[in-house]
Amino acid sequence: MLTDRIALVTGSTEGIGLGIATALAESGAHVMLNGFGSASDIERTRRELAERTGVRIAHSGADMSRPDEITKMVRDAETSFGRVDILVNNAGIQFVAPIAEFPQERWGQIMAVNLSSNFHAIKAVLPGMLKRGNGRIVNIASTHGLVASPFKGAYVAAKHGVVGLTKTVALETAETAITCNAICPGFVRTALVESQIRDLAEVHGMSEEQVAKLFRHDQLAT
Ligand code: NAD
Repeated sequence: MLTDRIALVTGSTEGIGLGIATALAESGAHVMLNGFGSASDIERTRRELAERTGVRIAHSGADMSRPDEITKMVRDAETSFGRVDILVNNAGIQFVAPIAEFPQERWGQIMAVNLSSNFHAIKAVLPGMLKRGNGRIVNIASTHGLVASPFKGAYVAAKHGVVGLTKTVALETAETAITCNAICPGFVRTALVESQIRDLAEVHGMSEEQVAKLFRHDQLAT
């Protein structure tokens, strides 16, 4: 269905992003992965996915908190693949603390990776999409783009921002064949939530499985 489309998925060396990149590759799209991890693990993931699906898989180690690296990642994808048809803004991080104790640098990091990176990547891919009159932009927000929880001020603010940015880009491209949508996932047991599960289990004297069950049953948002 996506044969020879070109996809760029941020934060895709593990977790939800790797799942999305895998599904895109299985549908025939060539994919540029992005994210951190050990060079050997990333290379193994890249090679295995390419060999199994027969599409081209590349990797960019660009840091999504750095606008210059985001722009360069998009240019690198355009240079090596020819264009970017599908952008998935997925990279995300979390930090949990009451507002009065929330470290300023953590606030800045979460805003940069979870919100501003979406803006910089969209800004970089959009001229090419507008020229071709086609494109798909998918921003991975969260249930926290719609509701709030205590102690996740930066994450909740950033994810609400992602939903707002998505609506704006969708309106600006409404008269073209470019679409911009947000997905608001609930709980997915990845590295991002493992530390929250451990911390909550310790604070409330519960087992990690009991906490994971609360997440799964939507009694805790992610
Ligand atoms: P994860 O921690 O498993 O994976 C995050 C990915 O982002 C990794 O590949 C990591 O290397 C990459 N990354 C982190 N910081 C980066 C940076 N500065 N530059 C480039 N890459 C960076 O996370 P996940 O659970 O798969 O989450 C993916 C997205 O889904 C995030 O935006 C998250 O907010 C959202 N989400 C997750 C859940 C959940 O329950 N796991 C729920 C709702 C939304």
